[in-house]
Amino acid sequence: MRNLDTVIQDLVIANRILAREEVVDAYGHISVRHPENPKHFFLARSVAPELVEAGDIVELGLDGQPVREETRPLYLERFIHAAIYEARPDVQSVVHAHAEEILPFGIAQATPLRPVIHSGSFIGANVPVWDIADKFGDTNLLVTNMEQGRDLAKCLAGNNVALMRGHGFASAARSLIEVVRMSVYLPRNARALMRAKQLGGEITYLRQGEIDARNRGYSPYSLETWRAWEYWANKAGCGHMLNKGEHAHAHKKG
Ligand code: MN
Repeated sequence: MRNLDTVIQDLVIANRILAREEVVDAYGHISVRHPENPKHFFLARSVAPELVEAGDIVELGLDGQPVREETRPLYLERFIHAAIYEARPDVQSVVHAHAEEILPFGIAQATPLRPVIHSGSFIGANVPVWDIADKFGDTNLLVTNMEQGRDLAKCLAGNNVALMRGHGFASAARSLIEVVRMSVYLPRNARALMRAKQLGGEITYLRQGEIDARNRGYSPYSLETWRAWEYWANKAGCGHMLNKGEHAHAHKKG
């Protein structure tokens, strides 16, 4: 079992990486499930991800409420995380963000967002689009209660990513590193697809076999994954926070 301090430290690093890679800005958030209690998860208090420190991390229950007395404001949309953890026991980490490159694909019906580049294969073959208006009518588009979160989780179903019409996306993965990687490459895949559309003609999406081949035998602690994590953490100015024990572990498993 991973040490709780390490889990929280990695969550801090993940916040900084997503900010540095421009997946999140003042808004957007990432959470990780409690490694020993699957009914709890960790998410920062309401603060820009770039500024998150270990002391900002709050422990929440699957109802989206803090498990201890908490006086600091929390993210309004924490129910996205709670509802996905509730619906998906396999999910260990969740991101919600508004990356601009993905927004057109939640608005325009003509072109589905699917993998077109090898690093985009992590998002999976199917990226459903959730429209809050379908069930809740005219809202401010934010997911501010469990009912809305559950409806989003239902649309996500067994997929890795759901787009949220006119708003952003939610992504879910089996590990923190995986959800970070997916959330970094999701906007890049969207950008490549958008530019290809501008060039005109037919779009060649990745074939199902290619997506499967990329995801087969994947390990969140492989050397390949660690390489990206180490690179991003250093780029985000938090290389000194990296857990070197896991570094050695990754090299050993290679
Ligand atoms: Mn949002």
